[in-house]
Amino acid sequence: MWLEKLIELVGKEKVIISESQRERLSKDYYWYSPVLFEELKDKVADCAVKPISIEEIKEIVTFAVANKVSVTIRGAGTGNYGQAIPLKGGIVLDLTKLDKLLELTESTVKVQAGMRLGALEKTLRKQGKELRIYPSTFMTSTVGGFLCGGSGGIGSIRWGNLWDGNIIGVTVMTFEGEPRIFEVVGEEMEDYIHNYGTTGIVLEAILPVEEKQEWTQHIISFPTFKEAVKFGDELAHNEAITKRLVSVCEWPIPSHFHSLKNVLQDDKSITMLEIEESCLKDLQLLVDKYSGTSDLIIPASNYHKGLKVSDFTWNHATLWAHKHGENMTYLQARFKVDQIFEQMDTLREKFGEEIQFHFEYIKIKGEITPASLPVILYQSKERLYEIIDFCRSIGVEINDPHTYLLGFGGYNLKMEQIMKKKQENDPFDLLNPGKIPVKQESEII
Ligand code: FAD
Repeated sequence: MWLEKLIELVGKEKVIISESQRERLSKDYYWYSPVLFEELKDKVADCAVKPISIEEIKEIVTFAVANKVSVTIRGAGTGNYGQAIPLKGGIVLDLTKLDKLLELTESTVKVQAGMRLGALEKTLRKQGKELRIYPSTFMTSTVGGFLCGGSGGIGSIRWGNLWDGNIIGVTVMTFEGEPRIFEVVGEEMEDYIHNYGTTGIVLEAILPVEEKQEWTQHIISFPTFKEAVKFGDELAHNEAITKRLVSVCEWPIPSHFHSLKNVLQDDKSITMLEIEESCLKDLQLLVDKYSGTSDLIIPASNYHKGLKVSDFTWNHATLWAHKHGENMTYLQARFKVDQIFEQMDTLREKFGEEIQFHFEYIKIKGEITPASLPVILYQSKERLYEIIDFCRSIGVEINDPHTYLLGFGGYNLKMEQIMKKKQENDPFDLLNPGKIPVKQESEII
């Protein structure tokens, strides 16, 4: 009944009901996790709508509240935790047509939430500016999706993640009979960052911008994985070398990178880097110190044109591993800076090749940290949680990517505050319902 009314309201051409399109627009990269795949594979929306204006969004929200229809917001659908999958059918609201750059100043940019980060970075670079951080999926993923579903990425080695001042403000629409629209800045933004779009619709965002730098890209191989990690660690801590990316991959992970097969050497662990071109002499000294070999250099003039080393970093490493073999998945881990080798040795001894190491250096609250996205040869859910429990028992922190429940994956979200905001902004629990857990608060990480 409500679907017919919706078609009447917004027009037949705007409501997507074909089965294949509904299925596509209802899914993200949840299949990275075999656990989530089993739980979510059958979930699909009743329809999808791609609004082109804030007025249209408002019309749909008013309709959905009146008819008690649930709505799940979608950017590009590249999230890994099933965040964008509608658990209770209803409408998928795809915001990719709200893609305008609204205002650029010396130090900020204001954009609509559906703007793709790749298009934004490209426009900024033409104006002599650049973004601080973006995910390795930046070419497709949207500002709103990154803000509400991501954490960090390229640039995080210098600027930290989403919670480190890398979002200046957001404009939010509530999910009420008469939707309110307001601006949020400061600490209150924690009610919207990485909350899977459960407390409101982010319409616009203001992000900080920096002066454009000339980034060269590198792949450097090392005789052993430990030398690669030591090199990565020293580079990450070296303030004199300006960098946007420091990624370290243990062999055999690089063996999955098919499009680099003519570049990479067998059995060699690698680091993948983005380094400011004025720092190349200092970089070379460090490469020599750890007996590294330069396998690939892409000059700054070719930045973001053709091959990008970031396409093999962050969660792209899992994508390549997955292409290589269906039974591969991943974890999100943080090793202790001063115990990284002991912790890796203990894990290798216990799990052998079942766990393959991959580090992304980031700055969290001013401290350089080896964040890790180890690739796991998946055997069963029980075995996966055995690995997670063991990691935690030896002090390796795990953010669990095998749950769609907000707060259970980690990230120290302020769940009590988020739940309060949910009640205020979405009193009928229609916005992405089912993602906020109904379990005991004490169970929430
Ligand atoms: P979507 O997946 O569409 O949405 C994400 C969540 O935000 C959903 O819950 C959705 O409902 C909600 N949402 C979207 N837009 C809005 C809005 N306007 N208002 C309210 N809620 C909204 N993540 C990282 O952080 N760093 C990485 O480096 C990284 N690398 C990745 C590599 C690969 C290969 C893959 C598959 C994923 C990776 N991710 C990474 C995860 C994901 O790509 C990013 O977080 C991305 O920014 C999500 O953007 P999106 O537009 O695809 O969001």
